[in-house]
Amino acid sequence: MQLTNTPRTHLKPKPDENKLGFGTIFTDHMFNMDYHPEKGWHNPRIEPYAPFVLEPSTMIFHYGQGIFEGLKAYRTPAGKIQLFRPRDNFKRLNYSARKLCIPEIDEAFALKALKELLRIEKDWIPGADGTSLYIRPTIVATDPYLGVRAAHTYRFFIILSPVGAYYPEGFNPVKILVTREHVRAVRGGIGDTKTMGNYAASLLAGEKAHRAGYTQVLWLDGVEQKYVEEVGSMNILFIINGELVTPELNGSILPGITRDSVLMLARRWGMRVSERRVGIDEVFQAHEAGTLSEIFGSGTAAVISPVGELRLEERLIRIGQGQVGPVAKRLFNTIMDIQYGRAEDPMGWIEPVQ
Ligand SMILES: *Cc1c(COP(=O)(O)O)cnc(C)c1O
Repeated sequence: MQLTNTPRTHLKPKPDENKLGFGTIFTDHMFNMDYHPEKGWHNPRIEPYAPFVLEPSTMIFHYGQGIFEGLKAYRTPAGKIQLFRPRDNFKRLNYSARKLCIPEIDEAFALKALKELLRIEKDWIPGADGTSLYIRPTIVATDPYLGVRAAHTYRFFIILSPVGAYYPEGFNPVKILVTREHVRAVRGGIGDTKTMGNYAASLLAGEKAHRAGYTQVLWLDGVEQKYVEEVGSMNILFIINGELVTPELNGSILPGITRDSVLMLARRWGMRVSERRVGIDEVFQAHEAGTLSEIFGSGTAAVISPVGELRLEERLIRIGQGQVGPVAKRLFNTIMDIQYGRAEDPMGWIEPVQ
């Protein structure tokens, strides 16, 4: 497949690197590719970032048949551009595609196209401490059709957004509310895919948590509401009796690439690691017994997000006294140093772009 390139004539001004937020600014160009049953994936092209014109009947608007990914490009101290485990993102995109009846993409070609787009947009990749270029590959159903079935046509696009440091003033432990009232996903469903509807399903509980003064929701399993699942856009990990414990991938949890990186590093460091069912009661009991020493989330946006408070109804855990635990801190520093090219990459996670 031949990738074509239509450059923009007028480039947008670049934002101030020290004032970047998240997800509001988009670069000059994007990648687009279309799917048609007779042509397969075709017409891959890099062109100016621009609105789509879609009929109101377009299937994605009605039935939510769409999937996405989230990863970042980093600028190293030497000015090189690199990606962190991007092949795993495209592999996961195809996993989501299979579950949502979307035709799979050629993962190697998608990575090649992304690298080409990044080379064109390299001046958009910020270099200030903790900043990066967020990458959002997305596939949506594009048939103009009302009726529930898998679409016949799709658009695959990649957009780029320069983003600021997640912790501009240093680590901020988050407050998390455990909900029994709402569930995000159930076994046999699509909780293990990055699909739009999962996030729509999380909004009401998220708003209730915000109103109660909490940053995020910790979801319990959708069947018994007894077992810990994850935090909406992060996986969750605990240190109990010195062991790193996290819910096993049971089909309703998103298999985070950061989660996997954390587990691989911890095993390499000789820590005891356990992926298993984690009862929410067990977490509160460990806290009461004094064996729970850290709670943190993992995800691309923040890498590691320490939890300072966890509440379920009348039960409360306060942990770490506003500080980051030693394991969370070591993981955060190690992963960030690899991503930003400040340290060796013994795991082969880095994909150079330029
Ligand atoms: C993206 C995401 C994560 C984290 O995955 P990473 O690959 O580590 O970024 C966790 N949970 C949900 C629901 C997600 O969408």
